[in-house]
Amino acid sequence: MSKRDYYEVLGVERGASAENIKKSYRRLAKQYHPDFNKDDAEAEKKFREIKEAYDVLSDPQKREHYDRFGHQANFNGGPGGFNGFGGSGGFGFGGIDEIFEQFFGGMGGMGGRRRPPGPEQGNHLRYDMEITLEEAFSGLEKVLTIPRTETCPECDGSRAKAGTKPETCSACGGSGQQQTARSTPFGRFISSQPCVACRGEGKTVKEPCPTCNAQGRVVNERKIEVTIPAGIEDGTRLRVSGGGEAGLRGGPPGDLYVVVRVKPHKKFQRQGNDLILEVPVSISQAALGIEMEVMTLGGKAELRIPEGTQHGAVFRLKGHGMPHLRGSGKGDLRVKVKLEVPKRLKAREKELLAEFAKLRGEEVGLEHKGIIDKVKDAISGG
Ligand SMILES: [Zn+2]
Ligand SMILES: [Zn+2]
Repeated sequence: MSKRDYYEVLGVERGASAENIKKSYRRLAKQYHPDFNKDDAEAEKKFREIKEAYDVLSDPQKREHYDRFGHQANFNGGPGGFNGFGGSGGFGFGGIDEIFEQFFGGMGGMGGRRRPPGPEQGNHLRYDMEITLEEAFSGLEKVLTIPRTETCPECDGSRAKAGTKPETCSACGGSGQQQTARSTPFGRFISSQPCVACRGEGKTVKEPCPTCNAQGRVVNERKIEVTIPAGIEDGTRLRVSGGGEAGLRGGPPGDLYVVVRVKPHKKFQRQGNDLILEVPVSISQAALGIEMEVMTLGGKAELRIPEGTQHGAVFRLKGHGMPHLRGSGKGDLRVKVKLEVPKRLKAREKELLAEFAKLRGEEVGLEHKGIIDKVKDAISGG
């Protein structure tokens, strides 16, 4: 999937200021807004693209991630990939309501739902992990290397250089909001937007912390040990509390979600806690019976195939399946008989089978050729 670069989508330079990004976004979003482009699928697509780009580039944390990891890291968590799935806001298309909220601050101030900047939980992170069925059988410990933003250790998130403190923003008096009045044909609207001077924080930093460049957070690689329990099922989501990104303004960290995919196995199929294995059995074995060893995920097991076993018969080996995720014990191994008819028989083998058929009064052979002629053909290599 080729995705356009977010900066390109918004038509701004990579190092563009937050203000320029916002300006460009507003211009484009108005141009392609569905309300002004009725039934124009192309415009809607554009609009979504613009919206998505802005969602990321307008958030310092997401922008930092995007600059570092590009589209891949942020949005397409392939096997072993890592994904920010925004705890607050998210990356998705927020719908018309949301964009109006951004444009007009809740339509004429009726909303009043805007929260003052307070502690905010960090983003949750998602890590997709692929394991084998054998690993799911035995369980495993895995150390994940996860890039994530953390509270800056130098300024402890205050964004100010050590020994200094952030000051109340003089532009907004610390509220983090700026109000502007607009006259429209429908009336006068008061809209309120995040303060430009302090980016809605309510505080400004005179001497920025050099370690985090006044972001309050830094991107670090973290090693997190995760225990994958034996018996885990495909698609299970494990939560590592506090393993996500650092919170904002003293908020708690987000969580880390490890999504475990269990790769399909070449031999074993899984059905709940049972495993299914297909075992090839010859016609003589099926007819006369046999005791054989079959492979299991944990090793080997004895299987008794009685005389006269039919194709497709299933034998259950108790306790040779997958471990129960909760509690003890294991599921069963269900062995399915796959009857194999021999190919390329030798002359003597054909002879014996023909005799066997004769004894049972069965008609065999192809076309109108007698069975004896066929055997002769085989002997002379014809
Ligand atoms: Zn810092
Ligand atoms: Zn301010």
